[in-house]
Amino acid sequence: MDDLNLIKGIGPKTKGYLEKLNIYNVNDLICHFPFRYEILKRSDLFNLRQDDKIIIDGYIDSTPSVFRFKGKMNKMSFRLRTKEAIINVVIFNRAFLKNNLTINKEITVIGKWDLLKNTIVASDIMFGLIGNEIKIEPIYHTVTGLGRKQIINFIDGAFNLNPEIDDYVPDFLASKYNFLDKRESLSILHHPKDINKVKKAMLRLKYEELFMFMLKINFLKSKNNEFKKGQPKEMDKDKIETFIDNLPFKLTSDQLKAVEDIMSDLSSNRVMNRLLQGDVGSGKTVVAVIAMYIMYLNNFQSALMVPTEILAKQHYKNIKELFKGIDINIRLLISSTPKAEKNEIYKELEEGNINIIVGTHAIIQDTVSFSRLGLVITDEQHRFGVKQRNNLRSKGELADILYMSATPIPRTYALTIYGDMDITNIKTMPSNRKSIITYLKQPNEIKDVLAMINDELDLNHQIYVVAPLIEENEKDQENVEKLTRQFELAFGKKYNIGMLHGKMASSEKEKIMNEYANGDINILISTTVIEVGIDVKNATMMVIFDAQKFGLSTLHQLRGRVGRSNLQSYCILISEHEKERLKIMTETNDGFEISEADFKLRGQGDLFGVRQSGDMNFKIADLKKDFKILMKAKEDANMFIKKSMMDDYPAIKRIVEGSFNLD
Ligand code: ADP
Ligand code: MG
Repeated sequence: MDDLNLIKGIGPKTKGYLEKLNIYNVNDLICHFPFRYEILKRSDLFNLRQDDKIIIDGYIDSTPSVFRFKGKMNKMSFRLRTKEAIINVVIFNRAFLKNNLTINKEITVIGKWDLLKNTIVASDIMFGLIGNEIKIEPIYHTVTGLGRKQIINFIDGAFNLNPEIDDYVPDFLASKYNFLDKRESLSILHHPKDINKVKKAMLRLKYEELFMFMLKINFLKSKNNEFKKGQPKEMDKDKIETFIDNLPFKLTSDQLKAVEDIMSDLSSNRVMNRLLQGDVGSGKTVVAVIAMYIMYLNNFQSALMVPTEILAKQHYKNIKELFKGIDINIRLLISSTPKAEKNEIYKELEEGNINIIVGTHAIIQDTVSFSRLGLVITDEQHRFGVKQRNNLRSKGELADILYMSATPIPRTYALTIYGDMDITNIKTMPSNRKSIITYLKQPNEIKDVLAMINDELDLNHQIYVVAPLIEENEKDQENVEKLTRQFELAFGKKYNIGMLHGKMASSEKEKIMNEYANGDINILISTTVIEVGIDVKNATMMVIFDAQKFGLSTLHQLRGRVGRSNLQSYCILISEHEKERLKIMTETNDGFEISEADFKLRGQGDLFGVRQSGDMNFKIADLKKDFKILMKAKEDANMFIKKSMMDDYPAIKRIVEGSFNLD
C-alpha cells in the first residue's frame, strides 16, 4: 500500500528519494531505524587534545563568511563565543545555513577540535544551547536530496497518522521477557531519551524479527518434508561405481560420504534440499558432477548456477573434462553468450537435448524453460537470494536442490540458520594437497616478505596481494592504490602487476581476473573482491596487509585462493596487532576449526558471506551479532510449532506462509 501521500511534504520527487532508501509506505518509514546513535554531551574545552571530537555551545560572534570553490563546494567560517573562550568554526557545504546564523544566535557545534588553530572543523550545527543536557541523536541513512531533518519530520508525520502496527510477538512470550509494547519501542528508537530504554526497545524488535525468521525456517523445513516425488531416482550402482573409478583421482572419504548422502536423498521420495559445506579446494565440484551423472542416468536435466561468469567458465571446463568419454550434452550459458547461440540453447533445453547447463543467473531468466529439470545446484550459494533460488526451483517441478558453500560455519549456527536444509560437511582435503604454510610478519619485516615474493616469482608462480582499502584515507591503513605503485617500483620491470577492487566496472574486473587466470598478470593487488571459488593453480602466495582488519574466516577464505595444486603454497599475514588471534591462522588450515575459534573469540564470527546478500532483509536484527537472541528465538519458535500454536495467531501465520510462496 502506498500511503506516503498522506504525509505533509511528500510529493513525487521526495517519493523517489525515499524509494532509494527502500521506503514505499508509512510502515517502511516507521521502520527506517537509525543505524546508530550519537550521544551528545558538552565537551570541556580545556581538556581536549588536538583532533579530539568536540561538542560545544555558545553564541555567534561574527557574521559568517562563505567561500565558494569550483564545483558545488563551499566553506563557511565564523567566530563562536563559548563560556570558556572565543573560537573559530569552519564548516563545509552548509552555506545554505548562513542566513540563520545571525550574531548572538545560540548554537551547538559538533566537530573535530584543531587545538593549534583554535578552530572547530564542524560536521554539524544545531540550533540552541546544549548546556548540561545529555542528548541522544539518532543517525539515519540518507540519500542525496533528502536531509536528516526531513527524514525525521517524515517519520514523525508517519507516527502522527497513527497507523496500524502489527505485533508478531505472541503475548505470552512478550510477558515472559517483559518486553516493551511494540509501538512504544518503535517510538523510543526514533525519539531516544535514555540509552537503556533504547537497548530495551531494540531487544524487543530484534527478538521479533528473529522469532519470525525461525518460524519461517521451521515452515520451510516442514514444507520440504511434505514434498513428495512421484518416482524416486534409480541408483544404477554399477554405472555410478564405474564412473567414480574412472575419475582422474581417488575420492576422499568425506567426498564418498557426501555422495552417499546425496544418493540416499535422490532415491528417497523426498525432494533433496542439501547444503554441501567444505573448504575451498576440498573437492565439492566432483560431488556435484556425480549427482548430475545420476540425474543423467535417470534422464533428468541438471542446472549448475554460479555467481560470476569466470566461475561459470571454469566449472564448464572442469565438468566437461570429468565427463570425458561419456555421451552427455553440456552447455554454458552466460550473459556474454552470443544471441544466436543463446536461442539455440533455450530451444535445446526445452526439447531436452541438453543434459547439463552451467551458467550464471542467466539460466533462471523467464525465457529459459526446461524439458525435465531434475537437479539444481548452486555454487557459493550465499550469493543467491531466496527469491532467485525459488525461481530456479519453480522451473523444475520439485527439483532436487544442492547448495555448495566454501564458508564453513560453526555447527550450532549452521543448524540454526540453515535449519531448513540437510547439511553435509567435507572436512578432509584431497591427499595430494600440500598444506599451505602461513607466516605472521611485522610491517618492519617487509624486506623479508618482498624476498619471499621474489623467490616465488622466480619460480614463475603468481602472487595475490590483499589490502583492506582501495585508496588512501586518513586512517593509516594499507591501500590497493599505494601498494600497486610500490609493487610497480619493486617488481614492475620484470613482472606485470594488476589492480582489482570493488569500485571498478565489472567488465574491467573480469578482464583483470582473466588476465591473471591466463598468467599474463604475475601479481594481483586487490581488496577482498577476488572471487570465492576462483581457481588459479599457479598462484602460490597470498600476502595480506593489515591482516588484523579482517575476521579469521575472511582470512581463511583469502588464503584458500592459493594451494590449489600440488605446488607448495604460502600465506603471509602482515600485522603488528592482535597477534594472538592471527596466530591461529598459522596453526591450522581447517576452516571449521577457524570459524569455531573466531566465533568463540568474538562471540560472533565474521561468518564471511553467510546468507548476506538480500537474502534475509533484517531491519534491525543482525544474524551475526545477535546470536544469543537468535538462540532464544529458535527455542521459542520450536516450542511454538511443537504446540501447534500457529492457528491461534493468524497474523503470524499469514506472514510465515505468505513469505515463502514456493509455487
Ligand atoms: P571446491 O570444493 O573448492 O569447489 P574443487 O571441486 O574446485 O574444490 O576441487 C579443487 C581441485 O581438487 C580440483 O582441481 C579438483 O579436480 C581436485 N580434486 C577434487 N577431489 C580430489 C581428490 N579426491 N583427489 C585429488 N584431487 C581432487
Ligand atoms: Mg568450488
